[in-house]
Amino acid sequence: MSPIRKLSITAAVLALVSVPLFGAARLTYFNNGTLIPVAWPDGSFPIRYSIDRRVADTIPQAAAILDRGGKDWAAIPDTSIGFQSLGVVDGASAGKDGRNTISMADDLFAGQKFIALTTNWYDDNGRIIEADMQIDPTAVSGGYNIQQLVDHEMGHILGLDHSAVLSSVMYPYVGTGNNPAALDSDDRVAIGAAYSRNKPATGATLEGRVYGDDGGIFAAQVVAVNDKGEPVATALSDKNGNFSLPGVPSGTYRIYAEPLDGPFAVQNLSGFWQSAKVTSFPTQYAEGGPLRVENGRIYGNLNVNSAGSVRLNPKWIGAWAAGTDNVSLQAMPTMLHAGTTITLGVGGDGFTSGMTTFDVPNPGFHRTSDFKWSSNYVCATFSVDASTPAGSVVVMVKSGNESAALTGALRVEPSTRSRGVRKL
Ligand SMILES: [Zn+2]
Repeated sequence: MSPIRKLSITAAVLALVSVPLFGAARLTYFNNGTLIPVAWPDGSFPIRYSIDRRVADTIPQAAAILDRGGKDWAAIPDTSIGFQSLGVVDGASAGKDGRNTISMADDLFAGQKFIALTTNWYDDNGRIIEADMQIDPTAVSGGYNIQQLVDHEMGHILGLDHSAVLSSVMYPYVGTGNNPAALDSDDRVAIGAAYSRNKPATGATLEGRVYGDDGGIFAAQVVAVNDKGEPVATALSDKNGNFSLPGVPSGTYRIYAEPLDGPFAVQNLSGFWQSAKVTSFPTQYAEGGPLRVENGRIYGNLNVNSAGSVRLNPKWIGAWAAGTDNVSLQAMPTMLHAGTTITLGVGGDGFTSGMTTFDVPNPGFHRTSDFKWSSNYVCATFSVDASTPAGSVVVMVKSGNESAALTGALRVEPSTRSRGVRKL
């Protein structure tokens, strides 16, 4: 009988404002030199879970929120994912007992800024056999977005690690309020690749290597961005700098690599990745220009030459009405509606007045002002076409010869007129 292993992922840290913080990668564990991704075996769905009575008593609408979270993940096409509630029970608690539970964490993380935790148990082959979610009472008392938190923890239950894409559900920070959670392309592609009903999974596989001054770069975030500036899929490079992006839908992409040097850091990942030494390197595109990819094909030799080092490191973004000076930047995605005109600001390290600028590589964004600089940020006004499709967008920052990305910094929502038909 193989030993059962345990993996705990602390999650959903508080949203911090103006404090330096820092793909959806799969949860993995390192066994005899091999990195093994964890996943539920075929036939595991629906994943049945019991809700402890204290959850139902503490979180308004808890059962409905959990149900909705399960449906958000189950809506990913070509998978058999499903969750099923076994109802509210007394005395459900986290711990290996053969049942998946949702329980309160009882201030377990007091002072650590964690507000939720998921623990997965799996065997030597990475097959998950049980998962438990714990929610800290401060998630409720602090007004955090419980739907987003639940969706995030369900992503862990399914075997996802954190993502450096700010707009993804697997980004390790959650804000306040009650906006509906929306899975990002990065979340969907990671799950689609792991649980596709089709073998091999639908979509293309993009493979290559990220290298710098000292050879292959470990734990670089590799991003496939489409012609609308959307970060469609991400992956992390291994110890030799090699990466593989499976399940990428057909389309036209550019591939870039960026360092995990904040706001998302290797410390936000589990296990093996934390051993990566973070190096600073310029965000660069793979050689060869845009790549047209088709489902079912493998594209190799996508090499990213990231030699050199940078000081430039964008970390925060914000949007405010043009003409006001109500500036607020944070390491969280900025939501904006198609059909609006808005001032965008980007801040971080290495910003230089008169030199640092940024670009939103989406054809619906038009810059309508000059750039303006403050101590550690730059801003400009943009009009966003009403026809701009919903989805997340990267922001590319330039300063002299240096370049850096803030991946998924923006999320476009449909224009307010059509808000009622928002697809979830
Ligand atoms: Zn998490």
